[in-house]
Amino acid sequence: MSLLIRDTQAPEKWFDEFPVMNRYTYGLAGERFYRAIKDSGQIFGTRCYNCHITYVPARIFCERCFTELTDWIDVGAIGELYTFTLLYKNLDGSINENPIPVGFVKIADGGLIHLLGEMNPEEITIGMKLKAKFKPKRDRIGSITDIQFFIPVK
Ligand SMILES: [Zn+2]
Repeated sequence: MSLLIRDTQAPEKWFDEFPVMNRYTYGLAGERFYRAIKDSGQIFGTRCYNCHITYVPARIFCERCFTELTDWIDVGAIGELYTFTLLYKNLDGSINENPIPVGFVKIADGGLIHLLGEMNPEEITIGMKLKAKFKPKRDRIGSITDIQFFIPVK
């Protein structure tokens, strides 16, 4: 039987426990990027002067010309909503009565996919200015979740 031919007798899904252990590292750029979010509530990008691009999140090399990027720039906490969606289902497949807005917030020449907050879904428009709302410093762990969500700039 080929991998492309599905066994119609095989179960589609099953529930059980599967122990998995791993260790994820952010890498050189991610370490510095998330440490800045945690320690100072700053979002950093790195600039490629060959390509005139500021990468957000910061990277250590330019994906276009492979130049090492050493110029770290505080790009601020404000971006522009590039696109968004509403999540009507939870991870367990259950229906969410209050859809959760998630968007791609363009910052410099990159951006972050994140939760949108402090707004009704009807108020969300492409191009609206959004600002990162950071968790209180004592609650930050060095993760993208240190940004609680992006909120409208008023
Ligand atoms: Zn470049």
